[in-house]
Amino acid sequence: MKLAAYKKKRSFSKTPEPTGGKADSDALRFVVQKHAASHLHYDFRLEMEGVLKSWAVPKGPSTDPSVKRLAMMVEDHPYDYRNFEGVIPKGQYGGGTVIVWDEGVYEPAEAEFTDKRSKEKHLLHQLHKGKIVFNLQGKKLKGQYALVKSSYQGENSWLLM
Ligand code: MN
Repeated sequence: MKLAAYKKKRSFSKTPEPTGGKADSDALRFVVQKHAASHLHYDFRLEMEGVLKSWAVPKGPSTDPSVKRLAMMVEDHPYDYRNFEGVIPKGQYGGGTVIVWDEGVYEPAEAEFTDKRSKEKHLLHQLHKGKIVFNLQGKKLKGQYALVKSSYQGENSWLLM
């Protein structure tokens, strides 16, 4: 039950957020959502094995290579979340407005993985080791980024650079 934590936090009779979705057979997708919750933040999500691995990035991604941004890992989100825009009602988990800030496809930085399955296996391995390096092809974000686990703010803290 990959999405158990996601489902447990939400009442689907009260929030318009998606509950599932089926991934494409070819491309790996990413999305960055701008979320005006109690604290404005950006949600950075990478598709892996049919769900979206997710990080809340208070200041949002930077296009400046010298800038590292704190990224707090949160629960896996359903694949269909990548298209979600709307208002999560006040009083519900994450209450506030969500818009898609950027989206596109991504790939592991290493070129040797050709099919989606081997790319995902490699990315999950990197995730478990605490360092993921990938190329984004979005509208705003293009080029190589990395997420690196950090002890800066507890066990879920990573840096996006
Ligand atoms: Mn959020």
